[in-house]
Amino acid sequence: MAMTIKNQDEIRKMGEAGQVVALIHARIEEAIAPGMTTGELDDMARETLREAGAISSFLHYPGGHGAPPFPGHICTSVNEEIVHGIPGKRRLRDGDVVSVDVGAILAGYHGDSAWTYAVGRIPDDAAQLLRDTEEALYRAVEAATTGNRLGAVGHAVESFARRRGRGVVREYGGHGIGRQMHEEPHVPNHGNPGRGVLLRSGLTLAIEPMLTAGGEHTKTLADGWTVVTADGSIAAHFEHTVAVSPQGGRVLTPRLAPVLE
Ligand code: MG
Ligand code: MG
Repeated sequence: MAMTIKNQDEIRKMGEAGQVVALIHARIEEAIAPGMTTGELDDMARETLREAGAISSFLHYPGGHGAPPFPGHICTSVNEEIVHGIPGKRRLRDGDVVSVDVGAILAGYHGDSAWTYAVGRIPDDAAQLLRDTEEALYRAVEAATTGNRLGAVGHAVESFARRRGRGVVREYGGHGIGRQMHEEPHVPNHGNPGRGVLLRSGLTLAIEPMLTAGGEHTKTLADGWTVVTADGSIAAHFEHTVAVSPQGGRVLTPRLAPVLE
């Protein structure tokens, strides 16, 4: 898959897909509570996609290594699960953290954004991990500036995360995005600011730091999808779709206030 620079019209369309993603997040954030199942979150996403005339980027996504296609509309990853958790009967408990990854296709373009939510009251150290990962995302978005090298984005994540004593997951990362969910380039969460492709205005990227309260190593569960920390420490995942601009990454999946309805 080639790296593609989008024109203003394409970026506008990606912003519209991003609005659908943001609306799903707002509704989930409002609803999330101890006792809900991850499958109920998936139902909310399915319904919002339908209302918006969009489809999930993830549903039926082909699995690797003999895994079945992805069965959910969103990914829900709880506690030590980092990414690609499958929504289902699991009931969220007070003190859990749940990473919700939402991808939507609208009029042929993708938006992709993940957020880690607290379920009820969470321990202070978990809350700090969430804040750190969100901050790492903002720093990386800022680094997605025209004329920088791609390594500046990963460096922004890694340098901040290391200062906070966080594990930085290296086996997964962000990606170019547009007509395909995964386009070139791969966007690592580590790097040297002087290395990597030159960032041009209109390059659209999904930037997605995954930080842990422990080590950086991962393993995949027997379902073929769910990626967990090898040491069982909790993880957080924050992601925005952005368009590279001279002012830094322009966020195409901006957060909305939680929706009350
Ligand atoms: Mg995502
Ligand atoms: Mg992504």
